[in-house]
Amino acid sequence: MKIGVLALQGDFDAHRKRLQELGAEVVLVKKPEQLDDLDGLVIPGGESGTFLKLLGEEGFAKLRDFVRSKPTFGTCAGAILLASEVENPKQAGLGALDITVRRNAYGRQIDSSIREGRFLNHPIEMVFIRAPKIERVGREVEVIATEGKDPVFVRKGKTLAATFHPELSHDRRIHQYFLDLIENTQPSY
Ligand code: GLN
Repeated sequence: MKIGVLALQGDFDAHRKRLQELGAEVVLVKKPEQLDDLDGLVIPGGESGTFLKLLGEEGFAKLRDFVRSKPTFGTCAGAILLASEVENPKQAGLGALDITVRRNAYGRQIDSSIREGRFLNHPIEMVFIRAPKIERVGREVEVIATEGKDPVFVRKGKTLAATFHPELSHDRRIHQYFLDLIENTQPSY
């Protein structure tokens, strides 16, 4: 399985390592044409506004076509990019998931934190860094993990968005879930 990790900026290398540990072939995507022969894509955390600048109009259009038709997993800034609506401030989203996301929603005091949430009803560690909040979940979007009352990991078909950083925890279940979805195998938990 060939998985791309968008490598323009941010913590793409931790995703590369995790995906390779799980047996995937990983391509660090720096140019739009590298999207062409991938089975799936991870958009990592970083700064979503910077991603938009670095992508430019052409990169944005190519990425939008990809994420709307192929399995994609966005974490943190990547989740922001996948949304249909972005607040604080408003910015363009790729519209792969019908969600509204508020950037930097936890305020300065709790810039970063490690908390325990629930993934498919099992406890799991979640690392939040200047995290966005999913404020609205569209009708076809399923919540697969929560932290307190907040949805923090959502899915529509093979499109996933997490507001935390699973690549920074030792637990491999979240990435495995994405790979299982691509392969159409039933996750075993
Ligand atoms: N605060 C960042 C943004 O708004 C996201 C932070 C992250 O990816 N860790 O894009």
